[in-house]
Order: sequence, then structure tokens, then C-alpha cells
Amino acid sequence: MKIAVDVDAVLLDLVTPFLDFYNERHKTSFETHMVKHYNFHKSFGGTLESEVALLMEFCTTEAFRNLTPVKGSVAAVKKLHKKHELIIVTSRNPGLKKLTEYQLNKYFPNCFDKIIFTNEHCGPQKGKSKKAIIISKINPDIVIEDCLDYLLDLPKATKGILLNYPWNQNKLPKNVERAMDWKQVLEIIENV
Ligand SMILES: [Mg+2]
Repeated sequence: MKIAVDVDAVLLDLVTPFLDFYNERHKTSFETHMVKHYNFHKSFGGTLESEVALLMEFCTTEAFRNLTPVKGSVAAVKKLHKKHELIIVTSRNPGLKKLTEYQLNKYFPNCFDKIIFTNEHCGPQKGKSKKAIIISKINPDIVIEDCLDYLLDLPKATKGILLNYPWNQNKLPKNVERAMDWKQVLEIIENV
């Protein structure tokens, strides 16, 4: 099968170190369970513009360069890679290409057939997202995501797997299934 995989919060834990960075900057003490929306500013205040600017700044730090894998993702991806075509579809901007390749090669060497950057940090803003459009073109059998918005306009035959987080506790469309962890992601894929 053809499987599209997101990077941040699916393969690499962006949120924990970004929250540390955010808290240091704003003298706050927010934790992951308090992130109730995909956009931080909707949980913690500020504007989308300030959030994007801070995230871009975070992307220049060592902490970002040294992001660590989401629990269970390394073993699961290595297993899936043996049987399936894995394509990265990330909303990171293409300026992060080298750094993203470095991060992925460090933990998931040669596991991905292609990396696509949609340049849509902080989620879709207006209308249909670029990521959803690109996913429609790729027409994968499965998409693994943490952002529910990206899974709302999937092609009919595509199944979405939403990795469970505090920011995606909404009702799911019929073709999207929630996975509590990567073990469940594998179980869902085995049953497709
Ligand atoms: Mg993500």
C-alpha cells in the first residue's frame, strides 16, 4: 500500500521541546496536555502571526535539530517500510529540507520513498488545505496524521489514521480512525 506520513508529532516530538522554548520566552509553564487546539495561540493566547514567527525561530535552534522520535515510531516505520511505500507529507516549509532529511535519516534511514513539503506551518488557514490537495494527488491508501483538519477532505478510498493528542479530540469522519499510539497504528494498517 501507499502510506503518507506526517512528521511533527507523528514521527518526531516537536511539541515537548517547542513548549519548553515557548515557556522560557513567555515565562509560562504550559504542558502538552494543555494544548487543546492544533494552533498554540488558540490555547495559550497571542496571534497566529506571533506563533508562526516563534515556531520559525524555534526551527533555528539546536533543540529543533535534535528532535527525538515519537514513542514507538521508529520500530513501526521500519516494519512498515518493508512492506509498503512510505511518503512523507509535511507542512514544514521547503527551507527546512536539509534539516528534515538529517532528522529523518538519523532515526528512519532509507525508510521513505519521497519527502513532500507543503509549506503550511500551523495548519490550514483558509479553504481547503494545501496538504489535503497534495494528498488527493498522491491518492494514498492511508494517511497518518495528528492534525484532524488535514484528514477532513481525503479521497474516498483513503483511510486516515489520527494519532491521539489533546489537540485532536473532535468527532471523526467515517474514514478516519483514532490510534492511541503507534502500536495501534500498526494494528489498524494490518486490518485495512
Ligand atoms: Mg503533525
